[in-house]
Amino acid sequence: MASDCVFCKIAAGESDGRVLYHDERVTAFWDIHPVAPVHILIVPNKHISSVNAMSEEDEALVGHLVYVAKLIAKEQGVDQEGYRLSINTGPNAGQSVFHIHVHLLAGRSLPIHIG
Ligand code: AMP
Ligand code: ZN
Repeated sequence: MASDCVFCKIAAGESDGRVLYHDERVTAFWDIHPVAPVHILIVPNKHISSVNAMSEEDEALVGHLVYVAKLIAKEQGVDQEGYRLSINTGPNAGQSVFHIHVHLLAGRSLPIHIG
C-alpha cells in the first residue's frame, strides 16, 4: 500500500469511499465526481500506479478488474443497455489519480469518442 494514495486507503477500508464491492484482489466504489448516473471505479487492492507500471504478473489482476466491472454492470442493471470501461493513462489521457482504475460509466448515452 502506498501511504499517500487515496485509492489504497479506500481499498484498505481506511477512507470514506462508497464501496459497493470488495474481494481479496479488487475494490469497487462510487466516483466522487460522477459524470454519468452510474460512475464506478474498480481498483486493485495492490498499488499499481498506472498501466505503464503493470508487470506481466499483474495481467490476471487487471483482467479481474474487467470481470468485476461486468458483474457490477449486471448488478446495476446496465449490462444490456450498455456501458463504457476506460483506463486513463498519463497526462494526455487526463489521469489524475495514480493508482490504476477502471471507470465504469453507464446510465446515459455515451458519445463515441476516441479522445
Ligand atoms: P482519472 O482521471 O482516470 O485519474 O480519474 C480519477 C477519478 O477518481 C475521477 O473521476 C475522480 O472524480 C475520482 N476520485 C478522486 N478521488 C476520489 C475519491 N476519494 N473517491 C472516489 N473517487 C475519487
Ligand atoms: Zn494506491
